[in-house]
Amino acid sequence: MNRMDEPLRISDDMAAVRDRHRRAADELIRDEELRLYIDGEWIESDSEKRLEIVNPTTDTPLASAPAANAADVERAVTAAWRGFESWGEYDPSERQRTLGRIADRIEANAERLARIDVLDNGKPITEARTDVELVADHFRYFSGVLRSLEGKTVPGGDGQHVETLREPYGVVAGIIPWNFPLLMATWKLAPALAAGNAIVLKPAEETPLSVVELLHLAGDLLPDGTVNVIMGYGPEAGRALVQHDRIGKVAFTGAVETGKGVMKDAADNITDLTLELGGKSPIVVFPDADIGTAVDVATEAMFFNCGECCCAGTRLFVHEDVYDRFTSAFVAAAESLTIGDPLSESTDLGPEITHTQRNRTEHYISLAEDAGAEVLTGGPATDRRLEAGYFVEPTVIESVPHESRVVQEEIFGPVEVLFEWSEYDDMIDRANDIDFGLAAGIVTEDLEDAHRAARDMEAGNIWVNQYNTFPAGQPFGGYKQSGMGRETARETLEAYTRTKTINFNLERS
Ligand code: NAD
Repeated sequence: MNRMDEPLRISDDMAAVRDRHRRAADELIRDEELRLYIDGEWIESDSEKRLEIVNPTTDTPLASAPAANAADVERAVTAAWRGFESWGEYDPSERQRTLGRIADRIEANAERLARIDVLDNGKPITEARTDVELVADHFRYFSGVLRSLEGKTVPGGDGQHVETLREPYGVVAGIIPWNFPLLMATWKLAPALAAGNAIVLKPAEETPLSVVELLHLAGDLLPDGTVNVIMGYGPEAGRALVQHDRIGKVAFTGAVETGKGVMKDAADNITDLTLELGGKSPIVVFPDADIGTAVDVATEAMFFNCGECCCAGTRLFVHEDVYDRFTSAFVAAAESLTIGDPLSESTDLGPEITHTQRNRTEHYISLAEDAGAEVLTGGPATDRRLEAGYFVEPTVIESVPHESRVVQEEIFGPVEVLFEWSEYDDMIDRANDIDFGLAAGIVTEDLEDAHRAARDMEAGNIWVNQYNTFPAGQPFGGYKQSGMGRETARETLEAYTRTKTINFNLERS
């Protein structure tokens, strides 16, 4: 459905938006010609390829960066091992203090970092500020929890003393997507550093600016080489990192298909892996649910970060008793969201990250229509209506066959599919009948129903009467093809270490 005759909900006229973004970029972006951060220095690459960083709101260039090649990866890994020689010697209290100081610098520059992510990613400023709060808090969390990293003694045989140590890998790699640029960087940097590793981080092609700024603001707090940032294309720089034989662990966040390739490449050196991949998460609304709560949860789950969220609640299962009431309230909520300039305080949805991503989202909506679905609100946008930027309207679809691509595949845009349910077991079967298992939401006032559904759902993260809360310490990760390993928690810290067992013969010692 293409409602070209209906009024736009773009909050500002594009000429004013462009002007505001141009001024913000002049103020916030230090250098339109970015360089790689290796061994504590900003250096050029001899690569002939470059990355063009584009503002998705205005479709105008923000900066350009060298696209790191295999030689740059080699330099970064070598520098990281030198960095590890110093950082690996820091005792836990020194590491704790350093990570705390990084958090201080982030907090002191929070608005600047948030606005850079808005320019680069298009996320609304209110959401970008929440990201930066989480970023600072994650550094603080890992600065504290690193003090709990300890080995153990194990009852051995006669005359034996068995103890274990938890040792860092030395140098690890982080590869991240574009949807939460600074937060995803932090989910790798904070635990890697806390455990005593040096790291080579490859941001997404589209969004390196906030992590570059973080290193400008706080790089001096770490020994040279401890953190290295290389911008570059996945198949070249990302792959060279994963295949490098002196990388002890790869922490990857991205799409499932890319993750499968990373896993195969890591196999050559039996490199340890954490994979945080895609999702297609269900939300279940029970018949006793408070409709206001259900609408709030579903709106947050679906339209947060413009639907560009790995754990987005994209399949909504609503009990038949409340289906009509819920659906009309949810559609009204979707229609009341403000799409527009992400620098504006009142904007709920900014643009999608790229032209390609917007086209992809619109393609899925067309596929749903072809499969006989009814589009209750939203639908493909057009350039004529939206003038510039990669905007897509919040879209709600029903009557979609379970096996259709719009139900089974991750879209990564603001597109919700609705289902009615009556029998609990059938609903759980449908909710679980998917390759992904990242997250799920449950809305009910009955604790017993909530517990039962939470146990029955095949997902790594379940939210009850809320969605998208990410306090540090809460393990985050997927079941099935949504990945392996957990982030943002104490077990993450351990996953950046290896266990060494030492067995002493007491009779000869
Ligand atoms: P992507 O897989 O295309 O890219 C992710 C990163 O991998 C980028 O830095 C990219 O350059 C790099 N890359 C690409 N090919 C590579 C290769 N062959 N070897 C090594 N690195 C390579 O994903 P995207 O489009 O940037 O991000 C969206 C995806 O990320 C979605 O599927 C989303 O669900 C997922 N995601 C998951 C989580 C989570 O925690 N589970 C969080 C955020 C995003």
